[in-house]
Amino acid sequence: MKRFLVSVAILSSMTAQSQDDPKATEVWEPKRAVITSTTATTTAPPSDAIVLFGGKDLNEWVSVKTPGTPAMWTIADGAFTVKKGTGNIETKRSFTDYQLHIEWKIPANITGQGQARGNSGLFVASTGKGDDGYELQIMDSWQNDTYVNGQAGSIYKQFPPLVNASKKPGEWQSYDVLWTAPRFNADSTLKSPAYLTVIHNGVIIQNHTELKGKTRYIGQASYQAHGASPIKLQDHGDPSEPISFRNIWIRELK
Ligand code: MG
Repeated sequence: MKRFLVSVAILSSMTAQSQDDPKATEVWEPKRAVITSTTATTTAPPSDAIVLFGGKDLNEWVSVKTPGTPAMWTIADGAFTVKKGTGNIETKRSFTDYQLHIEWKIPANITGQGQARGNSGLFVASTGKGDDGYELQIMDSWQNDTYVNGQAGSIYKQFPPLVNASKKPGEWQSYDVLWTAPRFNADSTLKSPAYLTVIHNGVIIQNHTELKGKTRYIGQASYQAHGASPIKLQDHGDPSEPISFRNIWIRELK
């Protein structure tokens, strides 16, 4: 999530100060066991996959900040890199249930600490502008302490990863994701919740986790009805060096 959501705080009718405090939903203990994974992180797309990034162009992506315009992140050497300040990007296509593979790399020269160190994010369903949606956290969690429900592999501010399977900055990492979208009744009430399974560098870190709702930087997660949704990547806005992505493919589950 972005580091501040001033408008949300101002508009909020909450009265207790702790409910306006983003720290109120941080969980710092217990720390996650650190797992060393030597699994290869790259996987060729299966024959029935939709390739969302194959190394050459961002034709499957658009800008979230400036609707109707192309994704402006930088492509080089078969990967693309966040172009700071251009905002989040999301897929042109919308999805419901799917299997997704994505590879990402924290730059070897990363600086900063805590949440301001290689922060990005995979919104497994983008349900609006900015950071609206369900965020699977991407950041440097190699020897970089932060709240456990905000470290790499967390469902941000909801569930920490089962273990910390992070690789060093400069090494490619992978997420393999199984997403079951929430379903809503005709009156917009929740019919069935969302579930997320995540394998990080070959290690399971989320096991059919039942989500509490959309990610919120401040306050508790909750559901709001939506249909099929794009997938979004975060331009976080912290001053650390921008991170890169490659080899993104998806298989819709119908
Ligand atoms: Mg993030």
